Amino acid sequence: MTDAERKDQLAANLARVRERIAAAAARRSGPAPELIVVTKFFPASDVAALADLEVRDVGENRDQEAAAKAAELEALPAAAGLRWHFIGQLQTNKAKSVVRYAHAVHSVDRLSLVKSLSKAMAAEQARRAEHGVRPRGDLLVLLQVDLENRPAQSGAGSSGRGGARPEDIEALAAAVSAAEGLELGGLMAVAPLGADPAEAFSRLMEYSAELRRTHPAAGMVSAGMSQDLEAAVAAGATHLRVGSDVLGPRPPLM
Ligand SMILES: *Cc1c(COP(=O)(O)O)cnc(C)c1O
Repeated sequence: MTDAERKDQLAANLARVRERIAAAAARRSGPAPELIVVTKFFPASDVAALADLEVRDVGENRDQEAAAKAAELEALPAAAGLRWHFIGQLQTNKAKSVVRYAHAVHSVDRLSLVKSLSKAMAAEQARRAEHGVRPRGDLLVLLQVDLENRPAQSGAGSSGRGGARPEDIEALAAAVSAAEGLELGGLMAVAPLGADPAEAFSRLMEYSAELRRTHPAAGMVSAGMSQDLEAAVAAGATHLRVGSDVLGPRPPLM
């Protein structure tokens, strides 16, 4: 496939996804949700094509891959306005790298990661000052909530998708609010495999309402992927993370 053919394909996929979002949003009240196009496993050239198609927000789930793509696109004018959303499980030792390119991290689920990201932000601002680069804005942080109904204390049986237990949200939110360099955006979740996404997302909305009682500005709800974006929009998601329905199927090995 030529670059032009690939761009046409991405444009057509994007148009279909945007239609689905608009149709779902028309059935609810409130502003239309924002689309984050998840580009993991696809090359930087696809991200560049998406930027040309006026995609502003892209999502990635592995630091090594995301850092390389962000670096490759740095010099490209069309990609200058891109906002990188980190949506995968994040090891604390990757925080330093992530804050170099990420606008937001959607997958914060433990206190050690809050501390690492805040420390990494301080180091990043110092690095920029040293190089005469202007400081970056605060890192937008979303708390990832585990929507599996697992009994508390059962570490085993976890989906491996990460996420804090709902009862830990408030403490994490307080830590993010108090941390230098971080801004609390709201909540993120992935619907559990095999469960009814509508039920899962309605629980997520309840957690969001609870969070907004103590943190009124933290209204972001990042939920919904290719398979369940309609359910997420219906529930009230503000941000959708859509990959395969825009980019195409991912290689089987993930
Ligand atoms: C890959 C991924 C997505 C996108 O999933 P698709 O099914 O390809 O739309 C969304 N959220 C997270 C956390 C992901 O890892």
